[in-house]
Amino acid sequence: MKANFYEFVAQQVFRALPVNWKHIPVEKLLGKPPYQISHAFNTGINEGKSKLINILVLPLSVTLDKEAENQLIRLRDYILSRKCLLVVISEEENSGLHADTGIFISEDLRVENEYFLWLKCAHDQGGRTTIDGTNFLDLQVMLHELWKGKIAYSGPKEGFQQVNLEIMKDSCWKCKQEMSTVTGVVFPDKQIRNWASANWKYYNCLLPLSGFSDKNTALIQQFVNQLIVADPAITPVSIKYSQTLKDSYLAASCPSCHALRGNHYAGEKRINYLFDLESRFDGSLVYHTIGLNITKDLVQEVLSEYEACEHTCISGWNRS
Ligand SMILES: [Zn+2]
Repeated sequence: MKANFYEFVAQQVFRALPVNWKHIPVEKLLGKPPYQISHAFNTGINEGKSKLINILVLPLSVTLDKEAENQLIRLRDYILSRKCLLVVISEEENSGLHADTGIFISEDLRVENEYFLWLKCAHDQGGRTTIDGTNFLDLQVMLHELWKGKIAYSGPKEGFQQVNLEIMKDSCWKCKQEMSTVTGVVFPDKQIRNWASANWKYYNCLLPLSGFSDKNTALIQQFVNQLIVADPAITPVSIKYSQTLKDSYLAASCPSCHALRGNHYAGEKRINYLFDLESRFDGSLVYHTIGLNITKDLVQEVLSEYEACEHTCISGWNRS
């Protein structure tokens, strides 16, 4: 890796793109020095799907004060609001450790979506970078693949969308009646007609009922009430108040004796159903499509955990 990180990245960008590829002229690049986009170009995929890629270089030598951090966050927000891609390329000594700038990117600048990609070039990896944490590639190769549209983001997104409400075969801890517990919501990686299938996975983990608030609770309640008409063994859901948490939250309760079926106990039972996909076919885990408004916080909650099993896939950037 070259001593000057800006030069290193510039070289890699030019090698990644065809000679005649149109670079956006410097005077049209976003941001203000020293925190300015250093390269911008359109992806080489067909017109309609082409995306403008903005590259921001952050070398180890940079020190960010509060004002600089705010400037970078505003720049990020502007690029994201235009639905363009911001690629932050930062320099690190060690691929597994973040220096101050890396910590800022990780904690404050990074956004988990299709408009933000962070590539760390670490000295201990000879300046190579990775999107999955294990396979390291030369930066120019990564940028070339990005330009070709071979690297894409998949994962839960913000906004109103179709997600899957999960219902689990269960029994009441109190009255021992068999019941079908509404556990929460998962984000499928594709839309298919029949969810009793091995052809789909959900991203990272279940979002338990208690995670939902505001308008979503009413939508979930209404939806569940409709399901109960066809199947009275399904648990009604309602807002409960917890003395311990001093807060109210959405929860399922037994249709016979009304005993509460909290996340924690439903979660313990649920683990048994995640060992293989059989639970999808034998009706232990049933999914229904529901439209909900997914906030940034909910997306973050899904991304903060990972249920490693056949039911799930990890959200993030992938090479196809
Ligand atoms: Zn009961």
